[in-house]
Amino acid sequence: MNAKKNWELLEQNDREIYELIAGEEDRQKRGIELIPSENYTYPEVLAATGSVLTNKYSEGYPGKRYYGGQEFTDQVENLARERAKRLFRCDHANVQPLSGSPMNQAVYLAFLKPGDTILGMDLSHGGHLTHGAPVSHMGKIFNFVRYKTDPQAQGKIDFDQLMKIAKETKPKIVLCGYTSYPRDYDYADFKKVADEVGAITMADVAHIGGLIAGGVMRNPFDYGFDIVTTTTHKTLRGPRAGLVLCRGGYAEIIDRSVFPGLQGGPHMHTIAAIAVALGKALQPEFREYAGKILKNAKALAGKLMAEGIKLVTGGTDNHMMVADTVASSGLNGREAETILDAVSITVNKQVIPDDPNPPLRPSGIRIGTPCATTRGMGEDDMARIGGWMVKALRSHKDQDDLAALKKEVEAFCRRFPVPGID
Ligand SMILES: *Cc1c(COP(=O)(O)O)cnc(C)c1O
Repeated sequence: MNAKKNWELLEQNDREIYELIAGEEDRQKRGIELIPSENYTYPEVLAATGSVLTNKYSEGYPGKRYYGGQEFTDQVENLARERAKRLFRCDHANVQPLSGSPMNQAVYLAFLKPGDTILGMDLSHGGHLTHGAPVSHMGKIFNFVRYKTDPQAQGKIDFDQLMKIAKETKPKIVLCGYTSYPRDYDYADFKKVADEVGAITMADVAHIGGLIAGGVMRNPFDYGFDIVTTTTHKTLRGPRAGLVLCRGGYAEIIDRSVFPGLQGGPHMHTIAAIAVALGKALQPEFREYAGKILKNAKALAGKLMAEGIKLVTGGTDNHMMVADTVASSGLNGREAETILDAVSITVNKQVIPDDPNPPLRPSGIRIGTPCATTRGMGEDDMARIGGWMVKALRSHKDQDDLAALKKEVEAFCRRFPVPGID
């Protein structure tokens, strides 16, 4: 396990790629990362993903593989599964999905036939691409019907409307869990709707998996949910992958859907890294970390709102917020993203509910605190960052102001080490 030697060989033998990775390291250190789906993973996860497990074919599941030589990989996968079950308090865990998108595809394909109906959130209100965007293959294969948030009620979901749509459209799956939604979810209400029409309950907690694991947001299994999917690289701080977690009765259908239904050989180096990240999330310190992510988000949201920035749900219960930049500063999301990039603050442009503008030039930005929290930034730092963001958006026509601000931001960032780099 000579990681140092491996890097030396890369530097000697493929200078181009080596330099690009070095450049990315520097970029990740220099700026404030506020993209809510990103995080800085653990050095131990980097070690596992860079290990020789990448050499191994392990099609199948522990004890039932199509290749020999599995005495270590079986134990790795069993550890990952056991830790996932303990952490999320569920009966079964499939740890093989290669990322978030295939984890959701595996669930749809396990239960549905082409043309069957899934009831999910409108994409501009927070639903993910894999929740049936018209450009996605899933959106063409299945019939996605939509519910929305209520802007008059701080983004809460109107369950009377949801029940009405469910009764009209008879979905096979009722899906909650979102990519740009700053509130917690009322799982009991979703369960009530699903039970009324005999649907399966599915929560895609890709973004908030770490916050559920850390005990600071509700766990869908406490409300009788059937299926929960989560990525492992967002708030969970693990490698890029997905988990399908479920109640015991669904174990077999889910496993068969992931392999051989959708995927071939699992990425054992990633599964080892998932086990490492889940092991970390089982430690008491992780609860503290998850709590800090939420406190930081509240602090940043508070500062932005105090400075007159309009947040679409009027605040946040999780790690993220969506700002309406058109209403707040007359800039569309793409312009806001570019201006903030120029001062080394990274956010992503984001559609707002029923956005009149297209996704590449939407009306808002999405902002989140996991990365900043991982670097050790606290609530005072959040207020300061919020102040810088507002300043950049307001004085963006003055290049000297932006250059000075960028310097200030980068000097600040150097005080906070990045795990795996520093
Ligand atoms: C990020 C995300 C996914 C997909 O994850 P990828 O790893 O990017 O494929 C799925 N669902 C939701 C809600 C997400 O936020």
